[in-house]
Amino acid sequence: MPKPQTLAELEADIARDLELTAHPRAPWLLPKTCGGAPVLDVLIVGAGQGAMAVAFALRRDQVTNILCIDRAPHGEEGPWVTYARMHTLRSWKNQTGPDLGLPSLTYQAWHEAQWGEADFEAMRWIPKGHWNDYLLWFRGITGIPVRNGVTAGAISPCRTDDDLPCLRVETSAGTMHARKVVLATGQEAVGGWWMPEFLERLPARLRAHAGDAIDFAALRGKVVAVLGAGASAFDNAATALEAGAAEVHLFCRRAAPMIIQPYRWLTFAGFLRHLGAMPDEWRWRFMSYILGLREGFPQDTYTRVLAFPNFHMHVGWPWTDAAEDGPRVTVATERGAFTADYLIAGTGGRMDPAKVPMLAHCADNITLWADRYTPPAEEANERLGRFPYLSQEGAFMERRPGETPWIADLHLFGIGNTMSFGPSGSSINAMSIAAPRLAAGVTKGLFAADMPRLFGELQAYAIPQVVLDPARLED
Ligand SMILES: Cc1cc2nc3c(=O)[nH]c(=O)nc-3n(C[C@H](O)[C@H](O)[C@H](O)COP(=O)(O)OP(=O)(O)OC[C@H]3O[C@@H](n4cnc5c(N)ncnc54)[C@H](O)[C@@H]3O)c2cc1C
Repeated sequence: MPKPQTLAELEADIARDLELTAHPRAPWLLPKTCGGAPVLDVLIVGAGQGAMAVAFALRRDQVTNILCIDRAPHGEEGPWVTYARMHTLRSWKNQTGPDLGLPSLTYQAWHEAQWGEADFEAMRWIPKGHWNDYLLWFRGITGIPVRNGVTAGAISPCRTDDDLPCLRVETSAGTMHARKVVLATGQEAVGGWWMPEFLERLPARLRAHAGDAIDFAALRGKVVAVLGAGASAFDNAATALEAGAAEVHLFCRRAAPMIIQPYRWLTFAGFLRHLGAMPDEWRWRFMSYILGLREGFPQDTYTRVLAFPNFHMHVGWPWTDAAEDGPRVTVATERGAFTADYLIAGTGGRMDPAKVPMLAHCADNITLWADRYTPPAEEANERLGRFPYLSQEGAFMERRPGETPWIADLHLFGIGNTMSFGPSGSSINAMSIAAPRLAAGVTKGLFAADMPRLFGELQAYAIPQVVLDPARLED
């Protein structure tokens, strides 16, 4: 078959591919109400790439009464056009993602239909703006319903009018009801961005987290100090340099910066598919090793900062305190004081359910890894013990059984899944395996709750597939 030369041709291929692979086609869920209000089968909070992959997997299983809500305006979901300050993705360009393996829905197919095979071949990494455009196109062509500008708040239990469990979600657009809720809210799903307390207490004019909106133009001519040596720390350093900062100093706690990317190693089917079903000691052993290494920064990111002679990288140089110093800020380090005009913390995120408004009614009863598993002393890691310990369906589990049983209908898809299932399912390398698994966890619960109704339907099922010939029936 000739390759599509335009998006319109590609979209025709997609329609055909979706139709050819639509089995099993039979709808199996019935509309529900709660106090007369409609109940979604699944509400997905977030409309980033993870949400898209899960929504698509659900639709493939004929779960169509779904909605994604995102507090961000249309086109600004996820990090890509806001706080992702790299030029290109870090994932390999030929990894499949939310397409879930359907060739015509891949990034490559989308790219080639617009700019040709040679252009894709010549491209080293996917430009982040292209990736964002692809995600927007993807959701349109697969018919994933999204409401933007809607922030989800507290989630609590309720029952449908036919007495099935469901969830009530307070949102900025009013109360919504759903039988299942998937939290696909990125870094903030079970916690948020984190910086040391001594940075947190500084006034905002002196410091930011790499995940914040930062006015880089205001850093022109200034001395900027960045804490951390992960990819985002370097991206922020580069953006400050490109905006005309006088000096940028990046401080790495370790004596030897991390230059290995363990996520490259783990990108194979055995690990991605099966780690989540392995005994706790093995899940902990693998993930504490990987998360303990932290993510290395890519070569292109490093090259970007090295282009500036006013970039300085300090290794083996942890910060211990920081204080206002007139209009500037002075950082205490194990190797003396350092004064800068502005600090950027490239210090990642931390799990802390108590910080998440959506979890206000259950945060205290969410089982964490520390509740379930005590590693040997050499593998101990307090930070990782705070990750949620998820069920095989990717849902929260109760710390004290019986107090909040409804959290079994609250599924998680993102960085918080890491300790339970391996890499964040919403990262591109993992989502083709992780999203169908999460969707299957969701449909398992819907099916289980509907079994009495479905058994009744089976008993009432009376569509003959043969017309008997009475003349040939003998007593
Ligand atoms: C700078 C950076 C670069 C990265 N580069 C890569 C890469 O190259 N390859 C890769 O595979 N991964 C990368 N990642 C990691 C990860 O895959 C991405 O962060 C990815 O966007 C995660 O997808 P997600 O759907 O889980 O979350 P997000 O894409 O962050 O989407 C979450 C959405 O939830 C919304 N939201 C949050 N709270 C609420 C609420 N209460 N109500 C409503 N909406 C809410 C947000 O507005 C957001 O749109 C990168 C991460 C960062 C931070």
